Amino acid sequence: MSTLEEVSHYINGEKVKGENDKYGYVYSPSNGQKIATVPYASDEEVDGAIQLAKKAAAKWAKTSVGKRVEVLFKFRQLLVENTEELARVLGKENGKTIPDAKGEVSRGIESVDLAIGAPQILKGEHSVNVGGDINAYSMKQPLGVVTCISPFNFPVMVPLAMSVMAVAVGNAMILKPSEKVPHSALLISELWEKAGLPAGIWNVVNGDKDTVNAIITHKDIQAISFVGSTKIAEMIHETGTKHHKRVNAFGGGKNHMVIMPDADLDKAVDSFLGAAYGSASQRCMAISVAMPVGKETAAVFTDKLKEKVKNLRAGSYEDETADFGAVISAEAKQGILDAIDDAVNEGANIVVDGRNPDVENKEGFYLGATLLDNITPDMNMYKEEVFGPARPIIEVGSIDEAINLINDHQYGNGVAVFTNSGRDARRFTQEIEVGMVGVNVPIPIPVGYHNFGGWKDSRFGEGQMFGPDTARFFTKTKTVSERWFELDDSDETNFNFPTS
Ligand code: NAD
Repeated sequence: MSTLEEVSHYINGEKVKGENDKYGYVYSPSNGQKIATVPYASDEEVDGAIQLAKKAAAKWAKTSVGKRVEVLFKFRQLLVENTEELARVLGKENGKTIPDAKGEVSRGIESVDLAIGAPQILKGEHSVNVGGDINAYSMKQPLGVVTCISPFNFPVMVPLAMSVMAVAVGNAMILKPSEKVPHSALLISELWEKAGLPAGIWNVVNGDKDTVNAIITHKDIQAISFVGSTKIAEMIHETGTKHHKRVNAFGGGKNHMVIMPDADLDKAVDSFLGAAYGSASQRCMAISVAMPVGKETAAVFTDKLKEKVKNLRAGSYEDETADFGAVISAEAKQGILDAIDDAVNEGANIVVDGRNPDVENKEGFYLGATLLDNITPDMNMYKEEVFGPARPIIEVGSIDEAINLINDHQYGNGVAVFTNSGRDARRFTQEIEVGMVGVNVPIPIPVGYHNFGGWKDSRFGEGQMFGPDTARFFTKTKTVSERWFELDDSDETNFNFPTS
């Protein structure tokens, strides 16, 4: 091992040094420097963490929901008080700017707000005298030990969105954060500990794909919530369900913004800028494609957009005036450059070229905002998720063409339509085959108390993130039929199927 800082795991209430000899490096995208090594947990380390979590889960499940929620109230307060530090830690390892990172923390806190309502959410159903003095009621019970496997692009928000409800409803969590951003999850662990969460309920096990495999195939893992790229999401769903786990796996997206001829084009342009290039376009719900309807709309929209895209500036996470930060890695940067080259080779035109941005730190993984037009549906630039600041404009002739193209697309995470026509907006929201839809709202990420989830190849399995669905995903329902005999009841045997 090198002399770099060694990131630890967080298991059973303690920071634990990795014992495996496999590890990776954590970089700061803003300057391209290695900042730490991250241990990749072995099968034995994974098993050890799960066994401790299992013991803790049995006790936590029996703790009253009111007591569990008391911890959440404190945890929420600590997240608020530590927003600045969380933003710095995540900005350093992810590259996003501090103001953007603070926004992420704030959206993460929404999941705590929802989970604080666990007592209400866990209330079951009760029917009196369903027949023969029998009462029927249902209860929601925790699953036991569950896991969340998270991506690099939201090191705080996604782990919170995936897991706080799981803890609130009585489970123990094994979080496997992206190996590219392990510090954020460890800081969250410290806050859980300060909030009084019992040891073993929240665990962070660092690692790579082998660690993930050890977790998702472990006999004591009851449910898997995954967020990441589509290929991996599909594989996790397949492997997890083969091992009889409950799985929801959220994948990538290609989120269209349709601009109708009657839209307010200045507002559409401004909305596109932030939604398409914010966070260096590394958001699963980022607008990935502009789809103006009609030649004139396309011409005016492109002209107005071009002027503003030219002025966007990439900078260090600490540069509060930068529009967005660096991309996550040198490999990611190269992949985005390759995608731009491929598009050009296929006939695309570069409207604004951000391939050689003027940045202070040349070692950082920076790309400027790139805008392309002359795009056709058969190009990879249109078909595939490009997780970085290269954005195509594809012109269509009508709303029908827009709806058909979007519905035929592999992905169905988010979509937005900009229009002043209620009729067109209504038709669009009804007919579009996408899980989250914005009307004059460019990034329609639902607030924490609504459900989040894409359609088609943007999600595998059932159950959504955020929202009441999270509580359903992390609990199992038990239904009880109950009768209390009167002292003078006569004994009777009934061989027929019971009816009411
Ligand atoms: P990724 O798929 O590379 O990694 C996600 C997680 O899976 C990480 O913890 C990683 O260690 C693990 N992993 C990677 N390869 C694996 C393998 N072969 N086997 C098992 N586990 C593996 O994703 P990423 O690059 O970290 O994140 C970006 C992707 O996540 C984008 O595609 C983005 O759209 C998607 N995303 C989706 C949502 C959503 O809600 N739909 C939200 C955020 C990000």
